[in-house]
Amino acid sequence: RNCVVTVTPLTLARRPGAAVVIEDSSGVEHAEQMRRDFVANVSHELKTPLTALMGFIETLQGPARSDAAARDRFLGIMEREAGRMNRLIGDLLSLSRVEQEERRRPLDRVDLAALIRSVCATLAPAAAAAGVSLVRIGTAEAAEIGGDADQIQQVLHNLIENAIKYGSKAGQGGEVRVTLAHVPHEPLLRGPGWSVEVADDGEGIDEIHLPRLTERFYRVDNHRSREKGGTGLGLAIVKHIVARHRGRLKIESTAGQGSRFTFILPG
Ligand code: ADP
Repeated sequence: RNCVVTVTPLTLARRPGAAVVIEDSSGVEHAEQMRRDFVANVSHELKTPLTALMGFIETLQGPARSDAAARDRFLGIMEREAGRMNRLIGDLLSLSRVEQEERRRPLDRVDLAALIRSVCATLAPAAAAAGVSLVRIGTAEAAEIGGDADQIQQVLHNLIENAIKYGSKAGQGGEVRVTLAHVPHEPLLRGPGWSVEVADDGEGIDEIHLPRLTERFYRVDNHRSREKGGTGLGLAIVKHIVARHRGRLKIESTAGQGSRFTFILPG
C-alpha cells in the first residue's frame, strides 16, 4: 500500500506530544490509474477505425479514383468503420449518463413483459440471420416495476444481442431463451422482484474471465468481439443500469456449453 505519514508536534494538557496522521492513498491512485486506462482505451478504440477511414479516403482520392469496383468495396468498409465509431460513441454516452444518474433511482412504471416482447421483435432479424431461434418463456402478461424504460430496454437489448452474437457455435445456429419470472422473495433484494434470464447454448465463457466481464473494454476474445461489431462496453452499461435500479446481475457460464445472464429488479 502507498501511505503518507505526517507527524505534527503538539501540546496536550500541557504535555508535549505529537499527532501522527497516516493517509492511505492507494484507493485514490487506483481510481486515477483506472481513469488513465479508460482514456487510453477510448483513444485507441476511436483511433483504429479513424486511421482506416483516413487510409481509404486517401486511396479513393488517388489510385482507386477511377476503379468503380474498388470504390464500392472501399465505401462498404468505410461505412462499417464509421458505424463502429458511431456505436462506440453511443455506448460511451450511455455509460456516462447512467454513471451520472446512478444515485437517483428511476421510478416510472415500466412493464418488463412488454419490453421483452419489443426487444425480441427488434432483434428477430439478427437472430434469423445468425440461425438462432429466439424463445420467450414466462406467462406473465404484464410485469410492472419502477424504473427507466429506455435503460431497461438497453439492458435487454445488450444481453439478448450478446446471446445471439456469441450464443451460436460456429455455423450451427442455436437457441436463445429469455425467461421472465416473478420472485416472491429475493433475499438479495430483501423483498419481491422480477427476474429476467437470458440463456444461450453457445461457446460459453471460461470461469477465469467471469469476474472481469463487466469491466469496460474487457473482452474474452478481442478479435471475435470486433468482428461481431462489439464495443466492449455492453456489459459495463448493463451493470451500471442494474445497479441504478437497485437490482442484481448474475453471470453463469460453462465453457463450450453456454451462458446464462440473469438480472433481478425489485418490484
Ligand atoms: P462486446 O461489445 O465485446 O460484446 P460486452 O461488454 O457486451 O462487449 O461483452 C464483453 C465480452 O463478454 C464479449 O467480448 C464476449 O467475449 C463476452 N460475452 C458476452 N456475452 C457472452 C455470451 N452470451 N456468450 C459468450 N461470451 C459472451
